[in-house]
Amino acid sequence: MIINPIKLSQDLISCKSVTPIDDGAIGILRGVLEGLGFSCYALDFTSKEDPAEVRNLYARIGGGGPNLCFAGHTDVVPPGDLRLWAHDPFDPVIRDEILYGRGASDMKTAIAAWVAAVSEFLAERESFIGSLSLLITGDEEALAFNGTRKVLEWLKERNEKIDACIVGEPTSHTRLGDMIKIGRRGSISFTLTVQGAQGHAAYPQLADNPVTRLINILHDLKEKPLDEGTEFFQKSNLEVTTIDVGNPAANVIPALATAKFNIRFNDRHSAKSLEFLVREMCGKYAGKYDLTVHVTGEAFITPPGDLSGLVAGAVKKITGLEPELSTTGGTSDARFIREICPVVECGLLNTTAHKIDECASEADIRSLAAIYKEIIAGFFRG
Ligand SMILES: [Zn+2]
Repeated sequence: MIINPIKLSQDLISCKSVTPIDDGAIGILRGVLEGLGFSCYALDFTSKEDPAEVRNLYARIGGGGPNLCFAGHTDVVPPGDLRLWAHDPFDPVIRDEILYGRGASDMKTAIAAWVAAVSEFLAERESFIGSLSLLITGDEEALAFNGTRKVLEWLKERNEKIDACIVGEPTSHTRLGDMIKIGRRGSISFTLTVQGAQGHAAYPQLADNPVTRLINILHDLKEKPLDEGTEFFQKSNLEVTTIDVGNPAANVIPALATAKFNIRFNDRHSAKSLEFLVREMCGKYAGKYDLTVHVTGEAFITPPGDLSGLVAGAVKKITGLEPELSTTGGTSDARFIREICPVVECGLLNTTAHKIDECASEADIRSLAAIYKEIIAGFFRG
């Protein structure tokens, strides 16, 4: 049975699967994969961090290793103001050979392209040594507590081994295949509240202005570069995202001042080392302070090697492009998977991801399926 990646993309986009709602997306995928001979496990997870139950899927065909896994997510971000869309975001229309809908770029289409590639591979190769698997989550776009992380725990309990993983996030920049990702920067967010003593602006010696101290801390943190970047990573960067004092009076020194800031960091740092750095700076200026830290993910890299070579070769064969091996952009579920095996991300253009009128060209979806088929064939060739 050969799967049409456009039709399957449309079926998936029709599901209003805004995190954590599934709306039948996993069921559609499960039906198709079972039709291809996969053993499927629908995995519903919840956690104390996020009580909203999320549906995930692990599917596998073949026996033993090596196990090549494809990871992706069926959940999508909210469409925003529906009136701004040219079409209903959950009605996947094709106009001028472009498929529109929420998830057309990020990343229902990539899942469909992988399944189509698998169907063609299986049609040509009745038997192969190893396994093909899919790890699909419904919790990537939001908190990600009940998704990939939990599925990986479930796999570990069952001694299910994955040897290499392709993540279908949209990684292409201006043309399909011009960029793949071999790692990601880490991300850490801080909320810092500096405590002072309230007083009259005319008698600063009788007060303690927390705004001054907060500004000094932020200035010093921002002024000195965290590093100069590495061969595969851009420079780490800190951005102050808000400063809140909420003081309505011009003649009152406030008691508290709060700022939020986020650091995107490379593998010269860790969440721990950055927290240490920030606390050190706070100690220098802050007096009494309160610091909340949220780590989204550590920086990681799968150094250029067999897997990135395989993916880059497949991209080159189908598109003629030599993809850039990048670590830019936000985080993805690759941050969890990299703990168990090499992982490379390769997918469609990300230009319309999360936007109004999100879309992908039919030609790109078909080419991505061809790239994926090359990757699969190459993986099981050697
Ligand atoms: Zn995504």
